[in-house]
Amino acid sequence: MTTVIDRMAEAPRYIPNDLRPSLVGLSRQALADALARAGVPEKHRRMRMRQIWHWIYHKGVMSFAEMTDISKELRARLEETFSITRPEVVTEQISSDGTRKWLLRLAPDERGQRHEIETVYIPEEDRGTLCISSQVGCTLTCSFCHTGTQRLVRNLTAEEIAGQIMLARDRVEDWPDDLEANPKPPASGRYITNVVLMGMGEPLYNFDHVKTAMEIASDGEGLSLSKRRITLSTSGVVPEIVRAGDEIGTMLAISLHGTTDEIRNKLVPLNKKYPIAELLAACRAYPGLSNARRITFEYVMLKGVNDTPEDAKRLVKLLAGIPAKINLIPFNPWPGTQYECSDWDTIETFAEIINKAGYASPVRTPRGRDIMAACGQLKSESQKVRARER
Ligand code: SAH
Ligand code: SF4
Repeated sequence: MTTVIDRMAEAPRYIPNDLRPSLVGLSRQALADALARAGVPEKHRRMRMRQIWHWIYHKGVMSFAEMTDISKELRARLEETFSITRPEVVTEQISSDGTRKWLLRLAPDERGQRHEIETVYIPEEDRGTLCISSQVGCTLTCSFCHTGTQRLVRNLTAEEIAGQIMLARDRVEDWPDDLEANPKPPASGRYITNVVLMGMGEPLYNFDHVKTAMEIASDGEGLSLSKRRITLSTSGVVPEIVRAGDEIGTMLAISLHGTTDEIRNKLVPLNKKYPIAELLAACRAYPGLSNARRITFEYVMLKGVNDTPEDAKRLVKLLAGIPAKINLIPFNPWPGTQYECSDWDTIETFAEIINKAGYASPVRTPRGRDIMAACGQLKSESQKVRARER
């Protein structure tokens, strides 16, 4: 049974019409620069920056008043000048399988518009994965993806990308100080152990903001997630792939979905610009690639489209020589789609061929389907839920 909880009352403080710039999402250097503008003298700046960084990203505080190793005067000045906000929680839904989905409303952009995005938390026995968005909507138009039917609204800022992780830490009580009082997190000791950029949007079309946010996420004195536990998923923006490895340095997932250009052109139209051969060449050149650091190839199972044994064999051939994992994703249908999910037998046959070729090929179990939190079901569906709730 689905529980839909509206916890606006106890959700983190979102202050309407707050014009103070937020300190969340700034790089260390940008944070030091902001402190300079607030009059922190140069000789104290680095130390203050480190203290504030620790309070915001390690402790997860939401007000300057809590920063007890900073003088009262400075705390008051910071409080006047800056905020430490989170996106506003519109709804929090908890699936019968423990998956949680937040509908978040962003602060107004330059045009005064307040867009909404979704963030999903998927707890498992040994890990907890947070799926975050990088854009509102998407400029690409993959034919099987619901997000692709929406026009792009805008890129998320680094604040909004990092803010999703912070908000989730608030809601599942995953800040280091919470954990002392908390019931058992998964085996690894934290609730949120992994982050995947697999929500709405194409992360490599929002390169700079994603990069800054991932620096914060992986900063050892910050959100402290290892880059090996952060996965950036791209539909195949070839010119940015190697650069992403060099500059962002997270794990990489490629939305492959088709084994010939003819099929992939239909599913992922970006393939017309960057065909499979170029995409795989970029993958082979991905920095740091090894058997311990494999690329994940995502493959959505679409009935009668890309799911034959021949497809499976071609897939294996294509990936030869690339340290790879293959992730088969049962298609998650959405209203108005022309596609259906492959039959279970077909998926099993497909998986067997891949297994025999030496790939562990987990079929991604759809999670949170009852709250429409599964891949490719994000956003527009939730608007319906809200309409029903009203
Ligand atoms: N834009 C990026 C990341 C977000 S999509 C990308 O395309 O990689 C995350 C994953 O969900 C992608 O592999 C995408 O192809 C897949 N996906 C999209 N719609 C889906 C659907 N309806 N069912 C199953 N998977 C879907
Ligand atoms: Fe955009 Fe990814 Fe959806 Fe394609 S699959 S439309 S790139 S979000």
